[in-house]
Amino acid sequence: MTQKTAVVIGSGFGGLALAVRLQAAGVQTIIVERRDRPGGRAYVYEQDGFTFDAGPTVITAPNALQELFAVSGQTMADWVELMPVMPFYRLLWEDGFRFDYSNDVDLTNRQIAAVSPDDVAGYARFVEYATDVFREGYERLAHVPFLDWWSMIRVAPQLLRLESYRSVYSMVSSFIKEPHLREAFSFHSLLVGGNPFKTSAIYTLIHVLERKWGVFFPRGGTGALVRALVELFQSIGGEIRLNAEVERILSNGTRVAGIRLADGSELRADAVASNADVVHTYGALLGHSALGRFEARRLRRRRFSMSLFLIYFGTRRKHPQLAHHTVLFGPRYRGLLDDIFERGVLADDFSLYLHAPTVTDPSLAPDGCEGFYVLAPVPHLGKAAIDWEVEGPRYRDRVLAYLEEQCLPGLRDDLLTSRIFTPMDFKTELNAHVGSAFSLEPVLTQSAYFRVHNRDDELENLYFVGAGTHPGAGVPGVVGSAKATAGLMLRDLGVQHRVVP
Ligand SMILES: Cc1cc2nc3c(=O)[nH]c(=O)nc-3n(C[C@H](O)[C@H](O)[C@H](O)COP(=O)(O)OP(=O)(O)OC[C@H]3O[C@@H](n4cnc5c(N)ncnc54)[C@H](O)[C@@H]3O)c2cc1C
Repeated sequence: MTQKTAVVIGSGFGGLALAVRLQAAGVQTIIVERRDRPGGRAYVYEQDGFTFDAGPTVITAPNALQELFAVSGQTMADWVELMPVMPFYRLLWEDGFRFDYSNDVDLTNRQIAAVSPDDVAGYARFVEYATDVFREGYERLAHVPFLDWWSMIRVAPQLLRLESYRSVYSMVSSFIKEPHLREAFSFHSLLVGGNPFKTSAIYTLIHVLERKWGVFFPRGGTGALVRALVELFQSIGGEIRLNAEVERILSNGTRVAGIRLADGSELRADAVASNADVVHTYGALLGHSALGRFEARRLRRRRFSMSLFLIYFGTRRKHPQLAHHTVLFGPRYRGLLDDIFERGVLADDFSLYLHAPTVTDPSLAPDGCEGFYVLAPVPHLGKAAIDWEVEGPRYRDRVLAYLEEQCLPGLRDDLLTSRIFTPMDFKTELNAHVGSAFSLEPVLTQSAYFRVHNRDDELENLYFVGAGTHPGAGVPGVVGSAKATAGLMLRDLGVQHRVVP
């Protein structure tokens, strides 16, 4: 029998995970990536002696990553080291309230009791609820494709029982009363692009996922994890082509035959999977077909997650008081989220996430220096007509001034290097529709069957992997999507594969 072949468009975590699974099962797989480095949102910038991970920094569910090495007959620890991070996040509010968020139950209870003794019992009930959701939503359904109505109807009773129609914030608030604590236990849906006031309570499972397995950071940065996956893929015979922009998916109505690159060359394959943005895939790569134009039009009407404004920066000195991950809550929570997700306003106040990787791995900066990134959630380009060429440098100055005031005294004098990444960069660098940082917003009406399917309904050998398909954004999400999509592809291609428990 001739060896089956596949092309994966894009080298984000989803694309890499899918390619490893296909190659490990014996499908000759080529990844084509338009940028000069792999990783997608997990790109790496090296600048003035600093190593800046561009995107994911909170690595959770290590077992999902370990599986990729196991299906290839390898052990992850031989390729990359995941270091535990503690606390998971330090949460700071402007009024001086501080909470170290982790899976240390005693410490968590003590901190809750200090501000709101009644909420200790409420928190325990919240964990019980979220554990139930985790079993259903993550352990049972995150790796299973939802291709037809039946698949959705089968899970409807569970979704109802878990009150998945309620929002994360509403569910947290039913257990916990103190306002800071409500924010502390509900902000996580933002990590996958969801407004806690709109995102389904199913996303409370993130709390359990973190509590159960912990939060990690790869030695050498997230880029080291990307490199390990690329090297693993190549070591089992896979091929990756960088600076290779796909211009078109070759289709003939019911099937796809391969892809055409911007340089005019073509790659033929038995199956094609797109890890690129879903609107870009239908609108640009399949824009020559009625199906592509129709699907892109349909998708453009849906809700997309917010965008992000990022500053990567390095300072000439260390900040021993810092945690690896800090969340700075601004004066408003719901109001700010409404500005970002609903009103499309670039507000005067912010809530920020500050990443200080050199707290865990000093090798990411020159001796005695500290590397950072700070991100602010901002409206996507479809919500707010902001000229980021003009606004970017202004916004950067405002964010740095705020950081200096809140937690990094003398920051602007200490700056050695910096660069910014705006919603416009998400659009131009990553082909992200409206510059969304996390693709389709993870609301219930855009989840599971209602998200882009892992296999196209018409083109029977075209597949999707990554943030826009089931289950959704975040590293565990897109690695889960790779498992769902690989299962479908291998079955369709008639390839036997090794099952890892
Ligand atoms: C700043 C930031 C911080 C984050 N932090 C975390 C975190 O701490 N933890 C976590 O779990 N998640 C985090 N996330 C979310 C997570 O990073 C993403 O959901 C996930 O990495 C997306 O992976 P993906 O597989 O969808 O592919 P992407 O990373 O979106 O990659 C898609 C790839 O396709 C390529 N491509 C697009 N068009 C073409 C084309 N025409 N031809 C060839 N290639 C093409 C792109 O260049 C890109 O490399 C973060 C996201 C961002 C933006």
